[in-house]
Amino acid sequence: VNQFSQPVRQIANLANTIQVTIASCERVFEILDEEEMEDIESGLEPQLQSVHKISFDHVQFGYEDTPDAELLMTDFNLTVEEGEMIAVVGPTGAGKSTLINLLERFYDVKGGSIRYEGVDVRDIDRHELRSRFSMVLQDTWLFNGTIWDNISYGSHDQSNLNEADILAASKAAHVDDFVRRLPDGYNTILNEEGTNISQGQRQLITIARAFLADPDILILDEATSSVDTRTEILIQKAMANLLQNRTSFVVAHRLSTIRDADKIIVMNHGDVIETGNHDALMDQDGFYAELYNSQFQTPEEQLKAV
Ligand code: ADP
Repeated sequence: VNQFSQPVRQIANLANTIQVTIASCERVFEILDEEEMEDIESGLEPQLQSVHKISFDHVQFGYEDTPDAELLMTDFNLTVEEGEMIAVVGPTGAGKSTLINLLERFYDVKGGSIRYEGVDVRDIDRHELRSRFSMVLQDTWLFNGTIWDNISYGSHDQSNLNEADILAASKAAHVDDFVRRLPDGYNTILNEEGTNISQGQRQLITIARAFLADPDILILDEATSSVDTRTEILIQKAMANLLQNRTSFVVAHRLSTIRDADKIIVMNHGDVIETGNHDALMDQDGFYAELYNSQFQTPEEQLKAV
């Protein structure tokens, strides 16, 4: 009996885990359904031609719902013009991801407002709003399917996709080059973890996906993982193409991206503590300058500065 008890317990545990996972997935769908229902009931129409211009006016926000809970954002202000690239920097826990969550209205503000083209985000159909965003995140999400399907996933209008568009996106993201060298080309099946291609190539595929979706607003969470130099250069070129003339928020780790940003917002404890472009912030010689000097210099530069 003893011989079996261990594996049996393991299976029981596994079954438990699966159930918990299923339950939490159901919960996510429930939440989405509730949100969609709310939008339908309140009669919200997709009413925006585009969502480029964004403003945060005196936004207050905290995750906890109790009345006396401490706020994370106490007075967050930001104006973004069409086509601007906003780099968001700050230590862990500063509120960078929270800002992105609020942009897509995964949470509602506790005070103040977020407006797109002057319209309060609470008056915009959530589905419509979210369809204007594309995300290129550190955890590249690929599914078990062909490279072709992975690129076309997520575009608003699947029925309208044509081969030429998919190929164009793939070329712009420097995916085409390596795919053509694979024996099965675009029909190569990716396993769920995408371990049959390199980390860098996975990132390029998600960039191609974003090109194809052609969003109004792009959210980038720059990868910190190291890839080989050649792929790194391709990723940077592909990103630069993707960012061109597009409103974007980049949770930035790379110096090159931050220097090119129209606005850098430096966050700490939920609020913006400094804002400006790289040169202006270096002149201010405040938090950003300190962060830059400690974090973004190469070890050689740091040695020279001593
Ligand atoms: P960053 O992205 O800059 O690391 P976050 O926006 O993730 O910062 O977090 C800001 C603060 O909010 C942290 O104190 C974090 O613990 C808290 N926080 C983040 N997400 C949640 C959540 N879903 N529920 C409760 N607190 C959260």
